[in-house]
Amino acid sequence: MSDNNRRGTFKLLSSYIYGDKALLTKASAFLVLATIADVLGPYLGKVFIDDYLMPRQFETQALVTLLLLYLGSQIAAAWLRYQQTMHFTTMALNAVQDIRQRAFKHVLKLPMAYFDHARTGQLVSRITNDTEAIKDLYVQFLSVVMSNLILLIGILIAMALLDLQLMLASALLIPTVMGVIFLYEKFSGPAVQQSRHLRSEINANISESIAGMSVLQASNQQPRFIEEFDQVNDDYYRARMRTIKVSALLLRPAIDLLSVSVLVAIIWMFGLQVTTGVAEVGVLYAFLNYLGRFTEPLAEVTQRFNLYQQAMVAGDRVHTLIEEGEQQYHDSPAQITSGHITVSALNFAYQTGKPVLHDVSFNLKPGELFAVVGHTGSGKSTLLSVLLNFYPTKEGTIRLDGQPLESFSHDNLRRGIGLIPQEPFIVVGSLRDNIDMGRNLPEAKLLQAAQQAHLTDTIRQLPDGLDTRLGEGGTRLSTGQRQQLVIARALAASPQILLLDEATANVDSETEQVIQRALRELHGKVTMIIVAHRLSTIKHADQILVLSHGRIEERGTHNELMQADAGLYRSMYQLQQQARRVQMLS
Ligand code: ATP
Ligand code: MG
Repeated sequence: MSDNNRRGTFKLLSSYIYGDKALLTKASAFLVLATIADVLGPYLGKVFIDDYLMPRQFETQALVTLLLLYLGSQIAAAWLRYQQTMHFTTMALNAVQDIRQRAFKHVLKLPMAYFDHARTGQLVSRITNDTEAIKDLYVQFLSVVMSNLILLIGILIAMALLDLQLMLASALLIPTVMGVIFLYEKFSGPAVQQSRHLRSEINANISESIAGMSVLQASNQQPRFIEEFDQVNDDYYRARMRTIKVSALLLRPAIDLLSVSVLVAIIWMFGLQVTTGVAEVGVLYAFLNYLGRFTEPLAEVTQRFNLYQQAMVAGDRVHTLIEEGEQQYHDSPAQITSGHITVSALNFAYQTGKPVLHDVSFNLKPGELFAVVGHTGSGKSTLLSVLLNFYPTKEGTIRLDGQPLESFSHDNLRRGIGLIPQEPFIVVGSLRDNIDMGRNLPEAKLLQAAQQAHLTDTIRQLPDGLDTRLGEGGTRLSTGQRQQLVIARALAASPQILLLDEATANVDSETEQVIQRALRELHGKVTMIIVAHRLSTIKHADQILVLSHGRIEERGTHNELMQADAGLYRSMYQLQQQARRVQMLS
């Protein structure tokens, strides 16, 4: 962890401590009061022994007062400790809730490029496990460590009041224990960090295998996945063992040993006082009592350093996630009203040095149907992503309705452009939820969109109509119906521009017809860019763009392109027709 990072993490974590000042003040007040009540006990015991028991003075009134004071202080201490814990826990839970919310909100705003490399499981682990570890920092570390530190101070003050020399001897424990903590931090830090990393690796492994279960089982990959999992699991075990070894060796035993030595020293010094005749038995009683309580907080504090380590590492990971640059959007009020698209001299690369789109230019009038065709990997989906501003472009310009793409706010851009992606994404919920997608559109709009996507018949056949619940990934619908659902979703917001990525790639020819009809009806009303593999589906497009390795190879209408003798489009089309004929014959 670099210093800079550590500072950032620290700032993030401490911002929550100081966030709610009123709560912090209350919690600290309870803490201090509880400590005073706690420390009072042995002191009263000393007064009883030295002032009443030893001189054999049993005045009823004084003794009753002493007893009541003792009882009162102990009851008050219990109640105050409870209040203190409650307040610190509230603080902790508030903080965690907020950090988790912040992290998730942030993830939703990350640029698409981030998800090209991110692993789902790791992200999930950051948002759940790591924030949980941060909670431990607040509850366990702050509350326990702070209360124990204050208790230590309280005990030291009480000891000083009783006997300064003995107090100084006891205080020797503090620097030695600090040394132990330092050693511990030095040895366990890297191991803790590694075990955290491995834990999220385990999460990532599990979620990946569940997501791809059908492929995994179909291709008989279980042994390989089990082997990989075992490996990570094993590494995790070893890393954890290392941290446990260090803490088992350094923390408890070392501190116990130190405190016994101090105990011996105190008894010895007291023995010396007895020989010179200045010793008071009550002082010894109080000191032994305090010393018993003294090592406990010290041990607690050191043990909690474990948690501190983990929380700092977790905090660091959450911090890095939160610091990850968000995609920036303008907040200008510009809206897409007609759906005019001009792209000029566009170059694009995901990674510098590996260009995907070269010098792409085209002009689309509102309501036109534009088709993009080309071989796999030629950059079709990339072109759509760039038009959606998922990836910022550096070279070339894209204008919508004459305005640069970057000048649209996130909301206005998404409202104006509907996307039907290559893989339909269905959320768990009803059909209605899936069309509406939280936009609270009026019922009429939803029905109209369903109608436009020719989904009405399907909806009628479902048991609860629009309110039928779909499983994860839309398991109750066929692939074609899912595609239609996604089209309805895109249409429900009445976008001016519709982008379709292979909307008919995975569907049978009947569904394809239905989708085709739906799209034809939109022709002239909405500007559409359709990416298609099956060229027969885009014959009626106003313009066809043929991409090859990210360059525009040809452009024109179907008829124009078919006239080019050695044209790429023509040969692709003929090949597909031939394949079709062969299919029909066989
Ligand atoms: P298909 O017909 O198979 O869908 P496509 O024309 O849509 O292909 P793209 O997905 O645009 O192709 O990919 C174009 C090129 O960009 C490919 O070489 C691909 O490897 C690369 N590419 C795509 N997405 C990314 C990404 N997120 N990061 C880096 N490279 C990418
Ligand atoms: Mg694609």
